[in-house]
Amino acid sequence: MSLHIPFEARYAALPDRFHAQLAPTPVSAPGLIKVNHRLARELGLDPAALESPEGVAMLAGNAVPEGAVPIAQAYAGHQFGGWNPQLGDGRAILLGELRHADGALRDVQLKGSGPTPFSRMGDGRAGLGPVLREYILSEAMHALGVPTTRALAAVTTGERVLREQVLPGAVFTRVASSHLRVGTFQFFAARDDLDALETLCDFARTRHDPEADTALDLLRGVIARQADLIARWMGLGFIHGVMNTDNMTISGETIDYGPCAFMEAYHPDTVYSSIDRHGRYAYRNQPEIAVWNLAQLATALLPLIDADQDRAIEVATEAVHGFADLYQSAWLDVFRAKLGLATAREEDAKLAHGLLRLMAEAGVDFTLAFRGLAEGQEVARKLYAQPEIFDAWARDWRARLAEEGVDAETLTARLTSANPAFIPRNHRVEQAIQAGMAGDFAPFHTLVAVLERPFDDQPEHAAYMAPARPEEAVRETFCGT
Ligand code: AMP
Ligand code: MG
Repeated sequence: MSLHIPFEARYAALPDRFHAQLAPTPVSAPGLIKVNHRLARELGLDPAALESPEGVAMLAGNAVPEGAVPIAQAYAGHQFGGWNPQLGDGRAILLGELRHADGALRDVQLKGSGPTPFSRMGDGRAGLGPVLREYILSEAMHALGVPTTRALAAVTTGERVLREQVLPGAVFTRVASSHLRVGTFQFFAARDDLDALETLCDFARTRHDPEADTALDLLRGVIARQADLIARWMGLGFIHGVMNTDNMTISGETIDYGPCAFMEAYHPDTVYSSIDRHGRYAYRNQPEIAVWNLAQLATALLPLIDADQDRAIEVATEAVHGFADLYQSAWLDVFRAKLGLATAREEDAKLAHGLLRLMAEAGVDFTLAFRGLAEGQEVARKLYAQPEIFDAWARDWRARLAEEGVDAETLTARLTSANPAFIPRNHRVEQAIQAGMAGDFAPFHTLVAVLERPFDDQPEHAAYMAPARPEEAVRETFCGT
């Protein structure tokens, strides 16, 4: 094929046990849903070329660009705490790496592109619903300022996939700083493959921590990025839902939009995922689970950290314990910004927790509660069953703001840039998916466009700010593989 894309084959150049080399499996009738023009340009790609029949053929896995070395990556992981020594890309193919306008490399991966040696019992395919969902959610997260994998494109396959029901098939093109996971390190550690661990560590440092000299530095880098990431999730009421070690990246990007959800009525125990029966990945547990996962990464890296195992354990443990302070400080930064504070005071944590407690008691919508702060006390207080309790909190908040001497205009600007008006509300995502399954992608396109500017007032789209009415509410999400 003549579509020329300058894919590099960095991961493909690693030894054979890192991956399986194979092409995507062609589909019967590729159809374009959407190409992300801006991201395409940032990757040096011509959006019109991607939308041409040749481009769509590539995005559907029907044609591999010249020079690309397509592979499925090997990895392992703990899923809901249970060890699985062999996962790997069961339905994804890495086409290669491209240079982003920011100077760093990005992986370009097709998801839903047919079976691989890692497919186990799966068909290697993806349903249209999960593909639209990942497109909407990952691009929304990006616009909200959260590190995340990105959506370059979504296409239909003209084929059906069999799940609980028969669904239209689709292929998603995911762009990521890399697809290295905690589980990639675990894969080699579990096999006592020190050579591979070292190679992987070098690869990860080159890609994500060029300043890092050692495995311990890499571990510290991952810990810092994850502390920052989870704090950002918490600041948006985001519940990942499946924080298995194969879904935790080395880059610090959010990955896997299977059962995730943005919380509406705030309660820290909230869980959406239908398979998370015990609430392991509930909103409030996310920082602790991150530590658990990072301890698995530390364990995998031990042999590279120090030849003396006791010494290795000691320094790795210390690094993992460092998460708590990093997270606390990132969390405070996030919530101070959400309260419009530009300076740091000891009592700020109490102020933030005080508001969260009121929100939980009244079951207030997480997003509206914070956006409401920008809209004035009259708007904010009405969200609470007992507005006077909010007023009491707001007095302390005002007093704290007064100490900063911030004027009203500056405060509003701070609050609107830290508290989004628009998030991908579950019922809106569901509506876009249902319409898409019936062949109407207009609601999907509208939702994606609204979520590109989550902090802007968009009066014409005010309906997208509203929580679900009881009959629209999505109370459970499904992994949807
Ligand atoms: P995920 O739930 O997407 O994190 O996937 C967990 C593991 O199952 C990964 O190894 C996936 O590649 C694999 N997997 C998920 N769905 C499929 C499928 N339909 N076919 C083959 N492998 C799959
Ligand atoms: Mg996954």
